[in-house]
Parts: sequence; structure tokens; C-alpha cells
Amino acid sequence: MIDQLRQLYEVQKLDTLIGDYTTQQAALDDGTTLRAQLAGLEAELAAEQEKLHALETDLRDAELKLKSTEDERKKFHTKLYSGSIIMPKELQDVQDKIKSLTRHKGDLEERGLILMDEVATQAAEVKKRTKAADEVRTRLEAVEKRFQEATTRFTDLIAGLTAQRRPAAQPVDAALLTKYEKIRKKHQNVGIVLVQSDVCDGCRTQITPASLKKLQSPDVVLLCDSCSRILYRPPAPVDDSGADEADLGDTGEEVSR
Ligand SMILES: [Zn+2]
Repeated sequence: MIDQLRQLYEVQKLDTLIGDYTTQQAALDDGTTLRAQLAGLEAELAAEQEKLHALETDLRDAELKLKSTEDERKKFHTKLYSGSIIMPKELQDVQDKIKSLTRHKGDLEERGLILMDEVATQAAEVKKRTKAADEVRTRLEAVEKRFQEATTRFTDLIAGLTAQRRPAAQPVDAALLTKYEKIRKKHQNVGIVLVQSDVCDGCRTQITPASLKKLQSPDVVLLCDSCSRILYRPPAPVDDSGADEADLGDTGEEVSR
């Protein structure tokens, strides 16, 4: 059973990595926030551009009206000095007409100046908003590129680990694997935990002496009393430098109980 647990712990290591990469992948910024921001800026820009076009149209209209008014005024002016007017009434009419057209021309010139000013102000506004939208678009493109690259990287990593997991899980007893999967699903992707210094690595709870005793039995699958995960105590390391000390420590504890 200890071999089974050791093998299952190898599966857990892969599952932990797969889980970590999956979480990191899910947390990647795909540009949703910037995309929404850009959509808002583009809508505002379109509205400002529409205002600019309307003002430009008004300005063109005013300029055309000014020209036709000026043409008409010239026409009456020419008539006034052509010597063709004989009747005083007609003379008065032409003079009145010229006066009225001159007034109208002045109004149109004033309106033209105001509109030119408004067009310039609005053009500056459009320029400013175009720049803001362009900046966000550039940032979004960079975020999307990073997202694509990171997604590919994580997908490759996860695929590689998944490929390793199949042969790693293969030697594990089917019932044990099923049990592990059930626990892992319920407990944040961790189904089997190490017991180190008599403490459950999953929940940091001290293992009871009774459970520790059971852990020594080769055929028992023991769950942590506190976090319900499968407990795995790896055999003591056979490292020359530290092995004696570790063995003595273990033995000492076993004897004292
Ligand atoms: Zn535990």
C-alpha cells in the first residue's frame, strides 16, 4: 500500500501543478476591461465627430450664404451706379435692398467667425479623444497578445502534465484512485497529503498517536481526522548524513508511546 500511496502522491503532484496552471490561466487578463473602455471611448469619439461634421456643414452653409448675399449686393450696387434707374421709388428700393443685404452680410460674417471658432474647438476635442482611444487600443493589442502567448504556454504545460499523469495514475489501484478523486474534488484539488513531523500537511493538524500507529500498517488507507484527506507518510530518507538522526527521532517517539 505504501507503494500505492507513493505513486498516488506522484499523481497528486501532477494534479497540483495542473490545478495551479489552470487557475493561473483562468486569471489571465484577456483584455475584457480594456475592450469595454475602448468601446466607450469610441462611442464618445463618434458622437464628437458627428458634432464636428454638423458644425462644418453649418460653416459651409454660412459661407455659401455669405457668397450669394455678397453676389446679390454687388448686383444691386452695379445697378445703382449703372444710370438705368430713373424712378425715385426704384432708387429707394435698390438702396433699401443694398442696406438690408449689407446688414445680412455682416450677420453672416459674424456667424461664420463664431462657427470657425466652434469648428476649431470641436476639432481639437476630436483630436484629443482620438488620441485617448488610440492609446487604449494600443494597450489592448498588447494585452491581447500577452494573453494569447500565455494561454498557449499554459495550454502546452497542462497538456504535457496531463500526458504524464496518465502513466503515473495507471499503477494506482482503481478503488484508491476513485477515493482520491472524490476527496480531491471536495478539498481544493488536494486528495492526498504528506505527514511530516507527525503533522498533516493539508491542514497542519497534529496526527493522533492512534492514527500514527495505523499509518504504519502497510494495508491501511488512513484519512486525516481533520481535513479528510488521504495521509501519506513517506519512508524515512536513506540519506547517510541525516538518516540516523531521523531514525532515532522516529524510534524515540514510537517507544515513548
Ligand atoms: Zn489534515
